Amino acid sequence: MPKITDGVYFIPGQDEMMPDSHTYVIGNPSSKDLSLIDPGLIGKGNYKVDSIEKMGIALEDIKRIIMTHTHFDHIGALFEIQNKIPWAELWVHHLEGEPLEKGDERTVYGMEMFRQICKMQYRIKSGTFTFRVHRKLQGGESLNIGDMVWEVIHIPGHSLGSIGLYYAPDKALIPGDVLYADHAIGRFDLFGADGEELKKSLKRLSQEKVEILLPGHNRVVKKLPEGYVLQTLEQWEPYLT
Ligand SMILES: [Zn+2]
Ligand SMILES: [Zn+2]
Repeated sequence: MPKITDGVYFIPGQDEMMPDSHTYVIGNPSSKDLSLIDPGLIGKGNYKVDSIEKMGIALEDIKRIIMTHTHFDHIGALFEIQNKIPWAELWVHHLEGEPLEKGDERTVYGMEMFRQICKMQYRIKSGTFTFRVHRKLQGGESLNIGDMVWEVIHIPGHSLGSIGLYYAPDKALIPGDVLYADHAIGRFDLFGADGEELKKSLKRLSQEKVEILLPGHNRVVKKLPEGYVLQTLEQWEPYLT
């Protein structure tokens, strides 16, 4: 189901040894002001771009790349995507945008063991993940993009600068790796992660009516039951300390 709703297009991740995050394109195509959310794993850029073109979306209409967060499985393909759409701005929450500009890769790899594995597997040099960030998000913004208004919600806990993007008219939420289908939540043992913060973030998300869940991995859900976020929080609350 590549088109989820008018204004939300879905390119599923292609997991390998490492997971590849889902990529979404949001915005009304007639606006010619589209945003690409989360490029995905290293090596998956061409697949993502080809899939976008196959949907009939013109690459020149993609004006920005917004990161839900900057873990390797979401940002790895950013170079490849930037090669195809070099004009696109990069928007990241400032808590991950600032380190990204300095080449501080602790969030990208999450833990030393992953850094070692990724570097061996993909032959990556230190400091590779250094990017210019055009807009540093704070959380609380209403982004008027692609003839839609997407709310930015800062939801730390899985990573320092995780954001959710929420589109109220369709009750659609892009939560990155904070919340998944089937009452799953993101891990909270990586650099910058914090169970208490994740609990607060889920509480914050439970204040919104969410019907369409567009997570970073696993199933997309088009009709969530009411109270899903709260139920998920209640299930996990004892572990979120
Ligand atoms: Zn992920
Ligand atoms: Zn993640």
